[in-house]
Amino acid sequence: MKKNYSPFHLSKGSSGKLRLELGDRSYEIVVGCGLLDQAGTLIRPFVAGQKVFIVSDTMVAPLYLEKLQTSLEKAGIKHSSVTLANGEKTKSFEQLQYLCNNLLKTGVDRETVIIALGGGVIGDITGFCAAVTLRGIDFIQIPTTLLSQVDSSVGGKTGINSSQGKNLIGAFHQPRLVITDLNCLDTLPRRHLLAGYAEIVKYGLINDIEFFDWLEKKAALIIEGDKTLQAQAILKSCASKADIVARDERENDIRALLNLGHTFAHALEAETGYNDDLLHGEAVSIGISMAYRLSQRLGFCKESEVTRIINHFNDVGLPTNINGLSTISWTPEQLISHMEFDKKVKAGKITFILAQAIGATFISREVKKQDLLAFLTDFLPSTTS
Ligand code: NAD
Ligand code: MG
Repeated sequence: MKKNYSPFHLSKGSSGKLRLELGDRSYEIVVGCGLLDQAGTLIRPFVAGQKVFIVSDTMVAPLYLEKLQTSLEKAGIKHSSVTLANGEKTKSFEQLQYLCNNLLKTGVDRETVIIALGGGVIGDITGFCAAVTLRGIDFIQIPTTLLSQVDSSVGGKTGINSSQGKNLIGAFHQPRLVITDLNCLDTLPRRHLLAGYAEIVKYGLINDIEFFDWLEKKAALIIEGDKTLQAQAILKSCASKADIVARDERENDIRALLNLGHTFAHALEAETGYNDDLLHGEAVSIGISMAYRLSQRLGFCKESEVTRIINHFNDVGLPTNINGLSTISWTPEQLISHMEFDKKVKAGKITFILAQAIGATFISREVKKQDLLAFLTDFLPSTTS
């Protein structure tokens, strides 16, 4: 797929911004250090009404809520807030109900703006709450994890999980603004930072080998906290996602490329029960490795490409197989049954993103079940030893 970046500029080394072009739903993604202190000024143009409503979680609120509140007050914006439990379990019907009721009790109107202050979990449930409350009110993303800064805060997918699977209940609802404060990454546990890094690598693999080359050289510094490199990696990732979303907002076509590794990842996460044993980004790193291995097995991709990717993930400390999750008795049939529940199943066919090379991926619904079964049988530890 030809890439066609939305223009972005790095103005002062570790800050910059870009715009996701979606007509009257276009918005800016602003990246920099210490932006929480400027949040009030950045948000002010989007608040016509009396107040904003902040949603955060029990881990993020003690770290950053007060900073945000102070900044809003300085800009003369009234606010109220709710704090949800941290973790994936929060993306539930119960928590959505609690959140919507809480919002309604504060006297929400069509001019109320909701702010999601947290990682992908808070961004997803808050965005969905904004999409359905009063049939849709504005919301702003302030992503605080690397994963949410490079992926979930951009593109307008919002939602919660159901007992049938991840993200099955949701809506497309674009934020009005995304504010990414790089300083938030300083408190993020390294494991979560790495999980977010897996999604950055994904953009290079999808359609940009130069970006992947660059990441191979800069990964260690990005992960160690170099703010200029973090800003570049985040802006490049967001530009890549913005470009695809601008061309295919509702995933009728090329937006599916952003799911590279995710057919496998979601099946692995369903099997581990969406708990901390396997973070989403870790599942993505394993899933991408599986997608490339499958591509090689089907004759699309050279082994050297697969090895290069796996080496890069391993070098930074990301998993590329499920050997560390040996407490689970994996079966190919079980994984396939999870894949068949995926949102991307069309006419009973599972969607895979396969690759010819690093930076060259394509959508396939043609993988034969017997090939998938044979691949998984060889891949899973219980059946390979
Ligand atoms: P998360 O929101 O659970 O955050 C991870 C953990 O880090 C949580 O415990 C959180 O409290 C904590 N945390 C957040 N910011 C912190 C900070 N600055 N310092 C210290 N701790 C902090 O998880 P995530 O990885 O950000 O997001 C994963 C979710 O995103 C999944 O539910 C996934 O489905 C969703 N997602 C959505 C999209 C989309 O397009 N909507 C895309 C990718 C992922
Ligand atoms: Mg993802």
